[in-house]
Amino acid sequence: MIAVLKSGVTPEQQENLCNWFESMGLSVNISTGDYHTIIGLIGDTSKVDIELLEGLSIIESVKRISEPYKKVNLKFHEDPTVVDIEGVKVGGGNFQIIAGPCSVESEQQCLSIAENVKASGASMLRGGAFKPRTSPYDFQGLHAQGLELLAEAKAKTGLPIVSEIMNIRDLPLFENVDLIQVGARNMQNFDLLRELGNTKKPVLLKRGLANTIKELLMSAEYIMAGGNENIILCERGIRTFESYTRNTLDLSAVPALHELTHLPVIVDPSHASGISRFVESMSMAAAAAGADGLMIEVHNDPEHALCDGAQSVTPAQFDKIAKKVAKIREAMKD
Ligand code: PEP
Ligand code: MN
Repeated sequence: MIAVLKSGVTPEQQENLCNWFESMGLSVNISTGDYHTIIGLIGDTSKVDIELLEGLSIIESVKRISEPYKKVNLKFHEDPTVVDIEGVKVGGGNFQIIAGPCSVESEQQCLSIAENVKASGASMLRGGAFKPRTSPYDFQGLHAQGLELLAEAKAKTGLPIVSEIMNIRDLPLFENVDLIQVGARNMQNFDLLRELGNTKKPVLLKRGLANTIKELLMSAEYIMAGGNENIILCERGIRTFESYTRNTLDLSAVPALHELTHLPVIVDPSHASGISRFVESMSMAAAAAGADGLMIEVHNDPEHALCDGAQSVTPAQFDKIAKKVAKIREAMKD
């Protein structure tokens, strides 16, 4: 349920109202927008007398929210959330490109890609150190050493770093990671989500291979329920009967998520298509669909990459993609 307050309500009146809700066993979520303050009520609202509430002089309107996701719901928070990652803002009109290798492989590889993508306009560096591989015999990532190499690249380039966590026991290693990624395979690892909810670290939550948009929102709700509101959602393609591409990019997830949630939504065209020559067109399409950013895999030597070489673009290709995306964004301005 949400209660929209009239303008001019004093902080004391607002506090009294919230105390009253809390005395009914409800928790309150206050969102102060440009025009309205919205009080979201979470818990069993069946005892709340809507007519009584509507009759209060400080209340403009009251609405029941039927969706099971509350804190991530756009109805709870009318302004878009802007996630700030070390000064790099995503959402609410702020568009960013995260780029880098699928996996951190060596110091030289990580540093040279970081420098290249920065020069082309990327504002964050990605790199996997813990890799969720289908085969246990494939390269699993450099683990702690990989995170150290990313930190070194950050020190050299100033780019905030993004890396995937697979197990909550590794959280202490992620202290210097600026945006913690929850990969598609862990989208419904609820214990992991709950623990990340107890931190203040920005989280990049990727949609599961076979999960619905609503399930993605429920997973984000797990993080937000713990008090962490710094969440970016990522559409990275879903499994369909189509096998020509690695996954099927569900671009309609972008406008759908924007009408359901205030959280920023980015697109990963690399995992979505699995084919490096499609990354340019899918990046432009995602920007045109209103995505708040992109995450693109870039490798200096894709043919010899230890993971996902087929979908990795070269730094030169990335440069061209970044320029084309900038043109699309320019064309979209009113
Ligand atoms: C990744 O970003 O490296 C990754 C493993 O992605 P996903 O979880 O979307 O498959
Ligand atoms: Mn990858």
